[in-house]
Amino acid sequence: MDPELLAHAEAARGFMPSDEGLALNAAAAAVEVDGPFLEVGSYCGKSAVYLGAAAQRSGRVLFALDHHRGSEENQVGWEHHEADLVDPAVAKMDTLPVFRRTIHDAGLEDTVVALVGDSPTVGSVWSTPLALLFIDGGHGSEPAHRDYDTWVPHVAVGGILLIHDVFPDPADGGRPPYEIYLRALESGEFEEVGVTGSLRTLRRIVSSSG
Ligand code: SAH
Ligand code: MG
Repeated sequence: MDPELLAHAEAARGFMPSDEGLALNAAAAAVEVDGPFLEVGSYCGKSAVYLGAAAQRSGRVLFALDHHRGSEENQVGWEHHEADLVDPAVAKMDTLPVFRRTIHDAGLEDTVVALVGDSPTVGSVWSTPLALLFIDGGHGSEPAHRDYDTWVPHVAVGGILLIHDVFPDPADGGRPPYEIYLRALESGEFEEVGVTGSLRTLRRIVSSSG
């Protein structure tokens, strides 16, 4: 990864460890099929810098989808709450200003296109095949399975599916990302090509039945 972009990625706010971020970047850089990238769950833009660096090099677009109101675990009183990310005027989380600053400072505004909205709403009108999909949105059962149903059918054959926060041992974290990872494997449509921390990298080998 370009050292300057790596420095921006490492300095960005978020919950993506460096080794997993580098694995994201490497998976994105190795994509062989045509098409844009899309991530579900951008927060302050950390993963978008790792993925966007590879997108920029190959002249692709990365769609960075987030309603920027935070997941359940980002709300007041939860483990991953960051109080300065609340917009006091509306008393809700708003990570969009920080996200925009992150992408600007990294020099990725020509590559990373923010989609600001609810994942299933955007997905309901989506039809472009994706060369890469990164799922890191809501981690509750409903949102995680819905993101799977909404977005995984759009991954092109030969394209890459990445899922974050996959914890086979329940002691390490919540189940839903692990459950959708198992769904991908059990569908017979994906083969696993990488494991780094809680990041799983899969490649579509059979076209979608969904
Ligand atoms: N990938 C990010 C972390 C994402 S945190 C990083 O590298 O730092 C999860 C994000 O998912 C939050 O920003 C939250 O706003 C978003 N999210 C949760 N549910 C969503 C939904 N239904 N639609 C759009 N975004 C959602
Ligand atoms: Mg995550």
